[in-house]
Amino acid sequence: ASTWASVKMGPPDAILGITEAFKKDQYEQKINLGVGAYRDDAGLPVVLPSVIEAEERLLKSCLDKEYAGITGISNFTKLAADLAYGEESIVLKEDRLAVTQTISGTGALRIGGEFLKKFHPSTKILLPQPSWANHAAVFRSSGLQPETYRYYNKETIGLDFEGLIEDLKNAEDGTAVLLHACAHNPTGVDPTPDQWKQISEVVKAKGHFPFFDMAYQGFASGSIERDAFAVRYFVEQGHQIALCQSFAKNMGLYGERVGAFSLVAESSEEKARIESQFKILVRPLYSNPPIHGARIASTILGDAQLKAQWLAEVKTMADRMITMRQLLKDNLEALGSTQNWDHVTSQIGMFCYTGLSGEQVDELAQKWSVYCTRDGRISIAGITSGNVKRLAQAIHEVSK
Ligand code: PMP
Repeated sequence: ASTWASVKMGPPDAILGITEAFKKDQYEQKINLGVGAYRDDAGLPVVLPSVIEAEERLLKSCLDKEYAGITGISNFTKLAADLAYGEESIVLKEDRLAVTQTISGTGALRIGGEFLKKFHPSTKILLPQPSWANHAAVFRSSGLQPETYRYYNKETIGLDFEGLIEDLKNAEDGTAVLLHACAHNPTGVDPTPDQWKQISEVVKAKGHFPFFDMAYQGFASGSIERDAFAVRYFVEQGHQIALCQSFAKNMGLYGERVGAFSLVAESSEEKARIESQFKILVRPLYSNPPIHGARIASTILGDAQLKAQWLAEVKTMADRMITMRQLLKDNLEALGSTQNWDHVTSQIGMFCYTGLSGEQVDELAQKWSVYCTRDGRISIAGITSGNVKRLAQAIHEVSK
């Protein structure tokens, strides 16, 4: 028998399975709302002009292809930290932020999970219910025990703020808590600034460890600063946070795998000890991170004019999604839908939790060639001014 005869077929990835079904569908006007990647109004992937410019500059400068350090390109990690924490941040001024470049946001989560497992007393990490499907898998693979706190209220299609606070209060003191910094995936529901302040208080009172995942900075509201509110507020309040950053969405660098993981230390000396342990974690995993994407990001972030251009491009992407939300809602109302679709425009970021059931999602695919995940999550990036009318009609028909 083969050495691998006992290897069983694993279940397909839920989201990639949708792409497969979409590809097989022959209908010309089919719509894919499963993917978590930005598309322009023609439904096509986008390479940002600022990225093209950065690549042209890199090509001209004929850089070598030597290895980066174990924690990455230091110019990149510095600029990434500036973007998230703000250049004026006290932790940067006092040189007490430990940072490592990572294999995009997923790699940041994994390094963070491994670090917690090794050095933090909490064996658990609380995730919002629901959360990005990969969170539980990443933390479980790191040897932590993922559990959940209440987050989403099905009735209001909004935040279950009381449930969230209650669950954080009832958790054992000193538990690690994963927080989506902005544009919660999959719900599109974020706490308000005032609610973040209350979350910060509870986290502080309980001695919990705030672990931020920021995969969508700038991509949610169109403003880098606004989307960083929670992260910066927690730091101002004296929390020693963990932060995962991804440049997949806001720079459209999905396949380049550009990200960072950082921990706020108490002192510069402590930062150095933490970074030495980042190296010990990274070395046996992948030795050192890829260089090309990090060079693109640091070329953009390190040049005032190119950075300004990029910020405008981020805003264009965010604005297109905000416009598509409005158009979808307007079309549903114009069709005479008697349901309340306010959540379509009140939610933020790339995803919208429609409130559609699994059966309704199946019907969307079968009758309308409209594809999304069975939890009713649609990717706003898949909506265009050309398909929004047909989409609204499909959603209206299945939800009547
Ligand atoms: N966190 C969240 C909440 C996400 O939605 C994603 C991407 N879908 C990621 C992290 C990581 O993405 P990447 O590894 O491509 O940066």
